[in-house]
Amino acid sequence: MRIMKLDPSFYKHLLDHVYDGVYFVDTDRRILYWNRGAERITGYPAEEVVGSRCADNILVHVDENGVELCKTACPLLQAVNDTKNHHAEVFLHHKSGHRIPVSVYATSLRNEDGQVIGCIETFRESVHGPDPLYLYELEKASLLDPLTQVANRRFLEMRLASSLGEFGRYGIPFGVIFADIDHFKEINDTYGHLAGDDMLKMIARSLRTNVRSTDLVGRWGGEEFVIIASHASLKSLQNLAQKLRTLIEKSFLRRDDRNLQVTMTFGATMVRSEDTEQSVMARADALMYRGKSDGRNRVIAEP
Ligand code: GH3
Ligand code: MG
Ligand code: MG
Repeated sequence: MRIMKLDPSFYKHLLDHVYDGVYFVDTDRRILYWNRGAERITGYPAEEVVGSRCADNILVHVDENGVELCKTACPLLQAVNDTKNHHAEVFLHHKSGHRIPVSVYATSLRNEDGQVIGCIETFRESVHGPDPLYLYELEKASLLDPLTQVANRRFLEMRLASSLGEFGRYGIPFGVIFADIDHFKEINDTYGHLAGDDMLKMIARSLRTNVRSTDLVGRWGGEEFVIIASHASLKSLQNLAQKLRTLIEKSFLRRDDRNLQVTMTFGATMVRSEDTEQSVMARADALMYRGKSDGRNRVIAEP
């Protein structure tokens, strides 16, 4: 394969055309670079910004309580002090005056001697993304699983209680899918716990991005995930579980020139009038176990 040689000016050109906002500040937090994405999101052209300090009434990031972050929790300032990626959900000032919700990521940049020479920040509008602001709120309320970034067990239990309430009061039906990775221990034993963690993250993403926005995907524990599907019928629940089963089966991680793949076994059931939170979960769990003894990588759905 022939690899095209790229001129150094190409990289500036490339960065200029990145859709997200990208800018660079020196250790004094003076803005030295400002791309077109930053111009688009903030309304400030580069010539008005480059050379000034970002705290000089330009972006003045605030948090959701309106607290100005420039002097205290500036993500750039935090990034200067370590090698981590700093993420914050903030509201920046647009040239026209209004506040724009953005997700910002700040990382320090070092020279060859390891000295910090500044910080690079990328940012994008929160409203157009997969609602990072919402995820951030959940994280703050300790309702997200830190590893996989899907709902944690506590959040699932809360949703289960509210869905049961709606079912009792208004008769709105919902279904529960219990999904467990097949032979997951082998992945850990063969490729290590970190590969196992990556697999859990991959599975969580596959599940989360392939349900309706009104369905809730969460991690019940270890390698067990639960989906609470509102306004479901047994048929729609079964179809959803089959789709997810297929997508998981077709997903893979690359490790040492190999594809790591797993399958999952699903138990799916609909809420019943006599159900409690425990009884509906126990039924979905028992159906999943039946799928395990039937040979795994399958969906067992029963009303
Ligand atoms: P089965 O098909 O019967 O479900 O087999 P299994 O190997 O998946 O079942 P088992 O319950 O014996 O093993 C589950 C494994 O999941 C054991 C544990 O090491 C792994 N596991 C649980 N939580 C995590 C985690 O957070 N990270 C990683 N890497 N592994 C985990
Ligand atoms: Mg299990
Ligand atoms: Mg398992």
